[in-house]
Amino acid sequence: MKNSFKLTGEAAETLAETYGTPLLVLSLDQVEENYKFLRKQLPGVKLFYAVKANPDPNLVKRLVELGSCFDVASDGEIIDLKDMGIAPERIVYANPVKTSIGLTTAKGAGVKQLTFDSEGELNRIVKIMPEASVLLRIRIDNKDSLVDLNKKFGVAPEEALDLLLSAKAKGLDVAGLCFHVGSQNTCSDAYLKALAISRSIFDEAAQRGIMLRILDIGGGFPIPSVDDNFDIFSMTRQIQTELNRLFPDTEIWAEPGRFICGTAVNLITKVIGAQVRSGQQWYFLDEGIYGTFSGALFDHWKYEMETFKDGPEINATIAGPSCDSLDVVFQNHNTVALDIDDLILVPNCGAYSSASATTFNGFAKAPTVIWEDIVETLPCKLMAAS
Ligand SMILES: *Cc1c(COP(=O)(O)O)cnc(C)c1O
Repeated sequence: MKNSFKLTGEAAETLAETYGTPLLVLSLDQVEENYKFLRKQLPGVKLFYAVKANPDPNLVKRLVELGSCFDVASDGEIIDLKDMGIAPERIVYANPVKTSIGLTTAKGAGVKQLTFDSEGELNRIVKIMPEASVLLRIRIDNKDSLVDLNKKFGVAPEEALDLLLSAKAKGLDVAGLCFHVGSQNTCSDAYLKALAISRSIFDEAAQRGIMLRILDIGGGFPIPSVDDNFDIFSMTRQIQTELNRLFPDTEIWAEPGRFICGTAVNLITKVIGAQVRSGQQWYFLDEGIYGTFSGALFDHWKYEMETFKDGPEINATIAGPSCDSLDVVFQNHNTVALDIDDLILVPNCGAYSSASATTFNGFAKAPTVIWEDIVETLPCKLMAAS
């Protein structure tokens, strides 16, 4: 698998001249590659792309063509997908605590697959959508993930049975369980643990007359190529083997977000300021924490930076363009010396980056161009390197 889309220095320069900076370059073929990889590694698992990781309409459209389903968390995401003509059966509303407008929007759009993790949420669902099929979110403790979602969501496994019984008593279609082991997992342990816990809840439920039929193993699959120390092949193989062993007759879903889009986007940004302050070298870029680099804050993401320059490394602080002192992308960053107008390429920034960018301080969000649409217009030697 070609696991990461990366522009050459020459291509970055031509694109910066043509379109200006900051600029996001999205490769839909890389998105397809990532989707097909998971398809192949987890055969039979129904994939629901978690739209929040990168809601770019062209990206979503490519996934629609590939047959993907979608995981949404808000009324806005439901409306966007509905406007694209995506059937409600291909959508799971996987936010265990939904807003009222989210629930009525789901109802209006015909989205019936919902998750929950409390009695209060069950009551809200029954009132608005008694015809819903519900999945109970269970908590899986996992301190090894980059972003641990289990502090916020999921019922303790020992409380799961009571909630399943309650959902059934309220007349809902009790479809199954779901979990999310946390984001950017680089080993399969948390998934294997979650599968074992889920199996015992499936068995307990069966003894009480509830035949669960769906298990949703969530997202968290890591962005490949960033960390050479993990093996995505063996990780997915272990998960698939355990699924075959414990859940041979269950419909399995997964909700990958970052894995699908993370390696498909490059940011091209430019140095707009270079100063020494109190003995420390500062570089200012035309993109910062309030833009594409927002993932440094929200997603704890460690962005890579390519300068296309050689030379001895110095220690520098890299800052964004806004007038806020929070707007520092890297502290203590080792880089070659840079000059004003130098370009910097940031690969692997497709997930939780542009999605959480703002227009704070009047800086527009970096526009996106689709690599496959524009490559024809460029000299052919400027192909992306892999
Ligand atoms: C965010 C989220 C995902 C996607 O997580 P990734 O780590 O990007 O794969 C999937 N499911 C739910 C419920 C989420 O909240």
